[in-house]
Amino acid sequence: MNNIKIVVAGPRGNMGKEAVNMVTNTENFQLVAVVDSRHEGKSLSEVEGFHGIDVPVFTNMQKCFEELDVDVLIDLTAPAFGKKHMETAFLNGVRPVVGTTGFTEADITELRTIAEDKGLGAIIAPNFAIGAILMMKFSQMAAKYLPNVEIIERHHDRKLDAPSGTAVKTAQLIAEVREQKLQGHPNETEELEGARGANFEGMRIHSVRLPGLVAHQEVIFGGIGQTLTIRHDSIDRTSFMPGVKLAVESVLKIDTLVYGLEHIIE
Ligand code: NAP
Repeated sequence: MNNIKIVVAGPRGNMGKEAVNMVTNTENFQLVAVVDSRHEGKSLSEVEGFHGIDVPVFTNMQKCFEELDVDVLIDLTAPAFGKKHMETAFLNGVRPVVGTTGFTEADITELRTIAEDKGLGAIIAPNFAIGAILMMKFSQMAAKYLPNVEIIERHHDRKLDAPSGTAVKTAQLIAEVREQKLQGHPNETEELEGARGANFEGMRIHSVRLPGLVAHQEVIFGGIGQTLTIRHDSIDRTSFMPGVKLAVESVLKIDTLVYGLEHIIE
């Protein structure tokens, strides 16, 4: 089998560093370049923390794809760039695997149309950790029986978007199985704005941002005389890498955009 030629965008970030490490240590995966916001024209080996990884650094993704033969883009950058990077990948026949969060439903629909027009696979996964996928699935199962639910997600304080992509995806999965439902007292008021969290079809989502956290989520269901809490903790970013690896392998076999790793695992 030929090597899968991979570009990682965002290599100096928390997730990007792990992805570079995973790609360079995986048989049949070949890191051919990185796309960074700095260090144009350098070798990655000249950048602190990447000793011995001699691949070119590009700041311009289009230029990177024009100069090199690339199969898959792994994008782990920032919400403002995810969509643009996917469009650039599609334009150049490159299949994107995207962990970057912040996509709207409209973005996903638009990007899926482009993927299908081009006959290219693409995967956007708000969470690559298998435990988080199970948390979302179990939450969807529980919501059929316990429709009163609130989501509390906790992340490190350098995260740019709130609520997290995982919280939104969880809420979407729950919304598929329960009627739209206003929760709490019908006459409740917020004495302090935001006290009740964000409202997703009547479900409340609360975002905590603190140093020391990685990525954590609790989905709390309330019923008569009982509560059920489903909780997942990523305590290290290595937890995401088996999912990224699986997505890279899978994206070559599909010709549409898949949103959520749960559709790949099954
Ligand atoms: P991070 O530590 O802030 O790293 C982001 C990196 O991307 C930084 O090095 C940044 O460089 C770089 N960058 C930003 N814009 C860029 C651009 N246009 N081109 C190239 N590089 C660019 O963030 P992180 O914690 O690694 O997270 C990255 C993304 O993944 C976020 O959207 C986060 O929500 C998401 N995430 C997803 C999962 C998952 O399982 N799907 C898990 C954790 C995080 P500068 O600092 O120089 O701008």
